[in-house]
Amino acid sequence: MNIAHHVERGHRLFPDKIALIFEDKTFTYKQLDELAGRVANGLRGLGIKRGDRVALFLPNIPEFVIGYLGILKIGAIAVSINVMLKTAEVSYILNDCAAKAIITTESQSQQVSEADLPELEHILIAEGQAHKGITLAQLMANASPEAPAVEMDRHAPACILYTSGTTGFPKGATLAHGNVIANSYAANRCYRISSSDRLLLYLPLFHCFGQNAILNTGFSACATIVLQRRFDLEKVLQTITEKQITMFFGVPTVFIKILNTEIPEKTFNNVRYFFSAAAPMPIEIAQKWHDKYGIFIHEGYGLTETSPFATYNNDLQYKLGSIGTPIDNVEIQIVDNYGHQVQLGELGEILVRGPNVMLGYWNRPFETAEVIQNGWFHTGDIGRMDEEGYFYIVDRIKDMINLSGFKVYPSEVENVIYQHPAVAEVAVYGVPDPIKGEVVNTNIVLKPGHNITAQQIIDFCYQNMAAYKVPHVIHFVDALPKNPTGKVLRRLLRHNSIQDVHQP
Ligand code: AMP
Repeated sequence: MNIAHHVERGHRLFPDKIALIFEDKTFTYKQLDELAGRVANGLRGLGIKRGDRVALFLPNIPEFVIGYLGILKIGAIAVSINVMLKTAEVSYILNDCAAKAIITTESQSQQVSEADLPELEHILIAEGQAHKGITLAQLMANASPEAPAVEMDRHAPACILYTSGTTGFPKGATLAHGNVIANSYAANRCYRISSSDRLLLYLPLFHCFGQNAILNTGFSACATIVLQRRFDLEKVLQTITEKQITMFFGVPTVFIKILNTEIPEKTFNNVRYFFSAAAPMPIEIAQKWHDKYGIFIHEGYGLTETSPFATYNNDLQYKLGSIGTPIDNVEIQIVDNYGHQVQLGELGEILVRGPNVMLGYWNRPFETAEVIQNGWFHTGDIGRMDEEGYFYIVDRIKDMINLSGFKVYPSEVENVIYQHPAVAEVAVYGVPDPIKGEVVNTNIVLKPGHNITAQQIIDFCYQNMAAYKVPHVIHFVDALPKNPTGKVLRRLLRHNSIQDVHQP
């Protein structure tokens, strides 16, 4: 068992079939597997062993895919880092997992501060010049392309994807080879994907959606992945037609943007399948899409910790507004505050159990035990089930802001803003937005005698955190609402700000 076997099988069965397209480059299954083999042997030559962590801090470029497969082939663990993160955020992750090597680009290597990284031995540059260390191309140049993926136990860790939480510090959701393989085959069956499909992949590869629900699932079917560096609506639409895309994946914001844009009538002529996940799909958008294109947007629900797929709004009976039913071998239950299953139709926390549930958070047994109990993963999402076993997401317990599928955890942003010398108290909370789903608002109490502008806070944020986490609105206030134990009532702030918007 090894995730890299998908591509090795493609190499064996369809050596000349195109596995990956990026701009004007194409890679057959044979070429992709051999390039990954070179990375694998190159990493071995550097002394990287089974179980060592190797980070990928890269945009969506072929080197991400090649590097990822090369790491997995030797049984090392691929740590994906969000390309938007800034130096402190990147250092935190690299130290947390004690990465031995990182594959990055020349421009992004500026965010990798070696001074703070005692464990990091190698920086490999996949794009641009290597001012220190070597390029990925140099690593691969003298390495043999032959590197059959080592057999792994299904519980052996394969990748770490960082996700934040209530504490404000990112935690490494650690997925085993068995987690990812089980999930990609389950997704494969949901999509009814075949080797003749062409999947457009512009969603970030560092996120579970891009990495597993698209890339690995596509490879599990020996299909073709058409990779794009990032989301650019014009390029996405052009590529759909030019590359005859058959499967289109997005987050609700993308579908909303497309509905709000005049596009050539034939754009989606070859597309047989639409899929959305990562954030709630508004019913009116799903309906409008179906009215316009005659095909439903299938919806999936899951989390990084569940590899990510847990439920799917399927073909047997598509239900508008639902996240569907559990995927193969996955169980879902809804429980009350005491952990008891609720009555049919009642609201409660969604728990997930199955081969998709992560091993745990890297080196964090306490946090892992908090979320996985008797095999049941506690999602922090609130939902209900109907009489036909279809699930609906209604709310969430966790303090997360879902901005077009990007997750912002208030305490993480607050921790940074607290470092500003003028700030006495801060509360970050989400407010609804018609396109992005939610945006980030902040209330700040200044220290006596300090007088700064919202722009100064925003500039400070841009320097110290990924841009998508930076607050959209800042209110300077005299005090924050708190409960008797002193906990800030973010829900009340959110509620009040919605009231403000609706007031004439
Ligand atoms: P992530 O770990 O980034 O994949 O985020 C997982 C979270 O995204 C879940 O806990 C949900 O809150 C949210 N999410 C994922 N899929 C959906 C969906 N189909 N509808 C609503 N929320 C979703």
